[in-house]
Amino acid sequence: MNEDLKRIYEESGIEPRVFEYGMKVRASLEERFRRIDENAEYCQIKVLNAMRKNKVSQECFNTSTGYGYDDFGRDTLEKVYADVFHTEDALVRPQITCGTHALALALFSNLRPGDELYSPAGKPYDTLEEVIGIRPSKGSLAEYGITYAQTDLLGDGTFDYDAIAGSINERTKVVTIQRSKGYQTRPSFSVKQIGELIAFVKNIKSDVIVMVDNCYGEFTEPIEPSDVGADMVVGSLIKNPGGGLAAIGGYIAGKTECIENAAYRLTSPGLGREVGASLGQMRSFYQGLFMSPTVTASALKGAIFAANLYEPLGFPAVPNATESRHDIIQALTLKSEEGLLAFCSGIQAGSPVDSFVTPLPWDMPGYDDQVIMAAGAFVSGSSIELSADGPLKPPYNVYFQGGLTFPSAAFGILMSLQKMVEQGLVQIPDL
Ligand SMILES: *Cc1c(COP(=O)(O)O)cnc(C)c1O
Repeated sequence: MNEDLKRIYEESGIEPRVFEYGMKVRASLEERFRRIDENAEYCQIKVLNAMRKNKVSQECFNTSTGYGYDDFGRDTLEKVYADVFHTEDALVRPQITCGTHALALALFSNLRPGDELYSPAGKPYDTLEEVIGIRPSKGSLAEYGITYAQTDLLGDGTFDYDAIAGSINERTKVVTIQRSKGYQTRPSFSVKQIGELIAFVKNIKSDVIVMVDNCYGEFTEPIEPSDVGADMVVGSLIKNPGGGLAAIGGYIAGKTECIENAAYRLTSPGLGREVGASLGQMRSFYQGLFMSPTVTASALKGAIFAANLYEPLGFPAVPNATESRHDIIQALTLKSEEGLLAFCSGIQAGSPVDSFVTPLPWDMPGYDDQVIMAAGAFVSGSSIELSADGPLKPPYNVYFQGGLTFPSAAFGILMSLQKMVEQGLVQIPDL
């Protein structure tokens, strides 16, 4: 037992039995953490090689304003992204405001009136319901005469290949697949599973455009969906690939034609990718991408640590303590309102920013139940940083993710357990 570590945890408000239980759990995870480190090393070299190949230099960190013509750093970064994802091209911009915007951009730019968007793997992420028009919304794809079809997963979480074969038709133009489970209960898909689904779909209709919502999945595996046939992969820079440093932004990496379409939609027909000032964001975009493999590894370790810490105490975890991981989200069932509040107050107290505030449930627009959120992030809303949220309803699930470093993630998670212990909501077993 490291006595220095034990002392500083105790000085920080985490009592010795909570610390010791945490250390015991961590000791059991060494082999898994070693494999995560190996994957991070692989992804790190992949990113590094893309930067070396494209001769990233100090000049890339210069800024542009106004139209942003000939922004060398921006154009080089897009080549780096294309090489990381093994795609023909990429669009990576601070003007892409978030993940939903990047996904909407990829869809609107590659669909035309009369086309159909098809999801072969169930319901997409909540915010896409309004983009698509599943929930009527101003400016949705539905308003432009683009229809939507969906095939749900089978009861065991696998793809319903018969129904998929029957749903692809002459109007099917774009197929959307979401890698991470997001806030659903299905498991997240591995890149291998996504590859099998893409092969099946393309075998039925070779010219469909397959878009993968890659949010939360980047660098959790050595390969990305673009390595197994996806025509576009799409994500947010305030999640994994921004490495916690990007302050805004999104990316689309994929086929030349898809990216061109997206560029002309992002700015304007005729202008496309030629405009779009980088506004001083480039150094953080490069450095964030460089940090991303190890930051993602820290978040993965945090998620696995939490599952292994809470599951033996009687709180179910999804993914469970031993399952393989394909994204950084961890769900825990805390079984009581007090548990959910205590957990979130611990995550908040363990954060580098706003550690002194108490998160309270509120009536969030778009939700039937009150929601509680804990986040103390350097970048507002960043979910690659340690953050947690959950609706105030049984069974009191909390969804949490992130942690820029493993030590800070571990600290926040132990702080959450400490708060649960203080409330008498959990018994730490005798070691
Ligand atoms: C976060 C997320 C989005 C939306 O990204 P925002 O940046 O919140 O708009 C879409 N899909 C998935 C799977 C996500 O995790």
